[in-house]
Amino acid sequence: MDFNDTPEQAAYRAQVRAWLEANAAEYLAPPEKPWGLDEFVARSKAWQRKKYEAGYAGITWPKAVGGQGLTPMHQIIFGQEESRTYVPTGLYSIGLGMCIPTVFTHGTPELIARFVPKALSGEEVWCQLFSEPVAGSDLASIRTRAECDGEAWVVNGQKVWTSFAHRSDFGILVTRTDFSAPKHRGLTMFIVDMKAPGVEVRPIRQMSGASDFNEVFFTDVRVPDSWRLGAVGDGWKVALTTLMHERLAVGGKPRHAPGWQMLIEVARGIETDSASALERADVRQRIASTYIADEGVKLTQMRALSALSRGAMPGPEQSIAKVVVAKTMQDMAAAALDLAESAGFAAEKGSDLEKLQQSYLWSAGLRIAGGTDEILRNIIAERVLGLPGDLRPPKDTPFNEIEPL
Ligand SMILES: Cc1cc2nc3c(=O)[nH]c(=O)nc-3n(C[C@H](O)[C@H](O)[C@H](O)COP(=O)(O)OP(=O)(O)OC[C@H]3O[C@@H](n4cnc5c(N)ncnc54)[C@H](O)[C@@H]3O)c2cc1C
Repeated sequence: MDFNDTPEQAAYRAQVRAWLEANAAEYLAPPEKPWGLDEFVARSKAWQRKKYEAGYAGITWPKAVGGQGLTPMHQIIFGQEESRTYVPTGLYSIGLGMCIPTVFTHGTPELIARFVPKALSGEEVWCQLFSEPVAGSDLASIRTRAECDGEAWVVNGQKVWTSFAHRSDFGILVTRTDFSAPKHRGLTMFIVDMKAPGVEVRPIRQMSGASDFNEVFFTDVRVPDSWRLGAVGDGWKVALTTLMHERLAVGGKPRHAPGWQMLIEVARGIETDSASALERADVRQRIASTYIADEGVKLTQMRALSALSRGAMPGPEQSIAKVVVAKTMQDMAAAALDLAESAGFAAEKGSDLEKLQQSYLWSAGLRIAGGTDEILRNIIAERVLGLPGDLRPPKDTPFNEIEPL
């Protein structure tokens, strides 16, 4: 495995670095105080627009829809350089990382022309309307219903955990159009206008105090048939496109998340009876485990990059990174906050301890979003290690005959 850039990649990296230094100057250090949601959205839109105008949005997308027609390695190099800054990008990770690739793969030319360029420029924000109160890991059990009414479909039901629905213009929506078909075969996917009559978005307040995701209720919402993605009954196939992109998008360690270096700093600053906590064997053990996990993830991701640079697609082994990253983040933050004892609760804004608190709270969500630890372990067991499969109910039973658990 060669970790070095080719001369062409090195030239692109230098060009990106120079552009970021000139254009992201205000984001080279962390913000002095956290942005509120409105400021985050406004800054995200301005940054996405700037990237679009400079040719750094949609790097791998065809030029015809506003992209650059470059390779995944160009995208990765831009992402690596961008992630050294503190520019706001999270508003678009679901839209550009999952929804728009799905529209591009399964949408008609008219839908692609209407939606892709405005998503790349950041003008329109997207959300993913998949999970429901009784369908998360078992996504094919969704119950939101779409019924055909002439040239439109009428949607009724509820979604939950929809990230940024309260700031989105459009969403991709998976619905059940045939309750008498087996559960994977009665689904159909649509684009939905989040401002359409009958769409009600209710933000959920999280334990961190933020409200990043929502419940979304649909009451007699009319969706034009021309906004359907894929054939009627093919929604599972369309959803798999989104989920495949999700696995690639959520794998790595979140940008600037505290790592073993911060654990060393926190331990160094804490005096125990005889010496700094850094001298304690259990603390040193924890630092070493965090370091080993971080390096393992880095090398696993390098392997994926290496595959991409050879033109291959990374496979199910990508799931390893998220399982390790999320748990390591949570364990490490818990260890540091435990060490700090009561100071761990009352950390000052912007301090290392406060970053660890945020990391502790956020990593709990990371262990669930985009596939829970248990589901990812099943994938690793079955598809990477070749172990026997999990027990699954027969796939051919009509959905309306499946016995509730
Ligand atoms: C931060 C965050 C953002 C999210 N954003 C979105 C979004 O934008 N759009 C969207 O549609 N959804 C979103 N979700 C929802 C997410 O996809 C689901 O929470 C996730 O798929 C798990 O589903 P669930 O919550 O219904 O839990 P369940 O599937 O009910 O799982 C409950 C528990 O049972 C375990 N379990 C379930 N099945 C198995 C099995 N076969 N074997 C072993 N254990 C099992 C799970 O691991 C878990 O511990 C988000 C979630 C989070 C935390």
